[in-house]
Amino acid sequence: MSIADNLLKYKKELEGTAAKLVAVSKFHEASEVMEAYQAGQRVFGENLVQELVEKQAQLPDDIEWHIIGHLQTNKVKYIAPFINLIESVDSLKLLIEINKQALKNKRVIDCLLQVYIADEDTKFGLGYDELIEILRSEEYATLQNIRIVGLMGIATNTQSEKQIRDEFQELKVLFDGIKVTYFRKDDYFTELSMGMSADYKLAIDEGSTMVRIGSNIFGKRVIKHYKAE
Ligand SMILES: *Cc1c(COP(=O)(O)O)cnc(C)c1O
Repeated sequence: MSIADNLLKYKKELEGTAAKLVAVSKFHEASEVMEAYQAGQRVFGENLVQELVEKQAQLPDDIEWHIIGHLQTNKVKYIAPFINLIESVDSLKLLIEINKQALKNKRVIDCLLQVYIADEDTKFGLGYDELIEILRSEEYATLQNIRIVGLMGIATNTQSEKQIRDEFQELKVLFDGIKVTYFRKDDYFTELSMGMSADYKLAIDEGSTMVRIGSNIFGKRVIKHYKAE
């Protein structure tokens, strides 16, 4: 199946659900992103800043770019002029830097707080206590150029459907709790980004509003190494 065929399949499948599609194009060429764009896709996710910056420069301006991988503080400045959503905010320090760079660019940058839900220590993300600590901090309250629009999580890479489902449920419960406690009056706190190629169906069942799908659309990734990362 071609990239366009895969996209159409997902478009159909997601119709009538609450989930929108983030096409994860990391390690795939700009020409492949263009193929997806021509098939109607506008939202793309990337992991690495350098790769994202290179593609953004070559591709149409009406693409909505998300960064979904761990973001180093010193790289924020490269994406601040154009990034639409930073899905992987995992510290207050990073949030403060995003705010600073957003201000420089006279923008407000939307962010998701990435929550650690997996049973693997290789994954990034905030623990429950750290998440609450950020939302209660005085520093957070002063940040005028960022907007927290929801939460993101990555489930454990396991064959156990029950475990994945439990992790997504846990994240949904947390999302609902955070919404009523900290964002009661903020109608923009709406996004729950969960689900990838292997587990997006479970994620949608459990309340995902954003699925991040890479290999099922673009095919297998060949890992590339970027010097500056
Ligand atoms: C790579 C990646 C994806 C997409 O993974 P696939 O299994 O290829 O769908 C989704 N989310 C994050 C955070 C990723 O790093």
